[in-house]
Amino acid sequence: MRILLVNPPIPETFWSFRHAIKFVSKRAVFPPLGLLTVASMLPASWTKRVVDMNTTALSDSDIVWADLVFVGAMSVQESSARSVIARAQRLHRTVVAGGPLFSARPDEFAHVDHLVLNEAEITLPSFLKDLASGVPQRICRTSDWADITTTPVPSWDLITMKHYSNMNVQYSRGCPFDCEFCDITVLFGRRPRTKSVEQLLKEFDALADRGWSDEVFLVDDNFIGNRTKLKNEILPAMIHWRRGRKQPFLLNTEASLDLADDRELMQMMVEAGFTTVFVGIESPHEESLAECRKAPNRKRNLLSSVRSLQTHGLQVQGGFILGFDSDPATIFHRMVEFIQESGIVTAMVGLLNAPVGTRLYRRLRDEGRLLTTMSGDNTDFSMNFVPKMNLDALVQGYRQVLESIYAPKQYYQRVRTFLRTYQPGPSGPMRLSRVHLQAFVKSIVILGIIGKERVEYWRLFFWSLFTHPKTFPMAITLSIYGFHYRKVLEHYGTL
Ligand code: SF4
Repeated sequence: MRILLVNPPIPETFWSFRHAIKFVSKRAVFPPLGLLTVASMLPASWTKRVVDMNTTALSDSDIVWADLVFVGAMSVQESSARSVIARAQRLHRTVVAGGPLFSARPDEFAHVDHLVLNEAEITLPSFLKDLASGVPQRICRTSDWADITTTPVPSWDLITMKHYSNMNVQYSRGCPFDCEFCDITVLFGRRPRTKSVEQLLKEFDALADRGWSDEVFLVDDNFIGNRTKLKNEILPAMIHWRRGRKQPFLLNTEASLDLADDRELMQMMVEAGFTTVFVGIESPHEESLAECRKAPNRKRNLLSSVRSLQTHGLQVQGGFILGFDSDPATIFHRMVEFIQESGIVTAMVGLLNAPVGTRLYRRLRDEGRLLTTMSGDNTDFSMNFVPKMNLDALVQGYRQVLESIYAPKQYYQRVRTFLRTYQPGPSGPMRLSRVHLQAFVKSIVILGIIGKERVEYWRLFFWSLFTHPKTFPMAITLSIYGFHYRKVLEHYGTL
């Protein structure tokens, strides 16, 4: 049996880092981890190929070669996934689709030959069993959560690793919290399920043995969901593993803000190689946090928590949301003020949307305010419900927030605020390789000579070189990120 696994293109978004990765001559940020894991679950005797359309073009001959075309997608890939499916079906190939896009809204994909939904550890074996007996079901789904201690190592040999700026690993699924707008708990549940130490190290070995020595993103929804296991088993093993490797990875992940309350956990994470965490801050307004039941952020000094993470060696990337019913008219100004003061350089501000299946979705539907399904890109100015605040005022305020925090002057000021607080851990803020040197030279030309931000660029350049030399490579990296963010905002007609 010949299997083609296709990852449809991801549109230009805040997180695509499309304009930043050109500086390091990469084609995409992340490989399609889900598809590579599914590939490992298929019978070893089958021939498999992966086409990630974010790095490589998909040709008709690729499709015609296959007996089955597997398509994996998230909501943000809806339009490109639909094109791939239509193309494969025009070429008379059987399509098997899975991933969050299809699991959340299977009824909208009635034309797809087979939908293997929810967690593939459960539904894929049942599909394969039926396929072997000649009667594959059209929809395989489950309401159970998979035991991820049986999940195999992804088939890294099916991609060209050098096309990507990061590799990714999943250690856990699920989150103990229950934020109203979040679909993580809908997709993966509230009891964090984790892989074993042996499994995790095997995944690290698989990457390192193939020569990977750069950034690795632990794609967990909330890495610190099970702290006891982290402190007693996982992090000590990761620290030990790291010491045995000459070129260990630089790690980043997602975690809830209560990480800042646990000094020991922060120290262990930094020792294990973590340099960055993405944290959902959501709002500086307490009533809005209460409204969405953002338990880990409530009744705390958000700024102090962010600073605590930064001083322990973790750069904080923050997610922010506008459009809560409780947001006052002053929210835009307060959000800009908070982001500038916090030194959160990568601040992803989006309009609130209600993913299918969430408590927010049900509430808005009951209140008659739901309009459509969300786009999956929470920074594209769309909302799928009627907000309490006047929509025009909300969108205009949102634009002003973005224009303000990503204007060169404010952006570079924020980088300096961050670098003043940040205390890099033992892994250092960044190692320099040939690719980084190439990015450095490009940054001088594109940002320092051609760019509109050149005055700010050189100011940061010399400031960090002479006053914070240890963080100089990070200053250059963040300058490049700023270039990407501005390009994305230009794409949306904001800057
Ligand atoms: S803390 Fe994050 S992952 Fe967990 S429920 Fe809230 S938004 Fe979702």
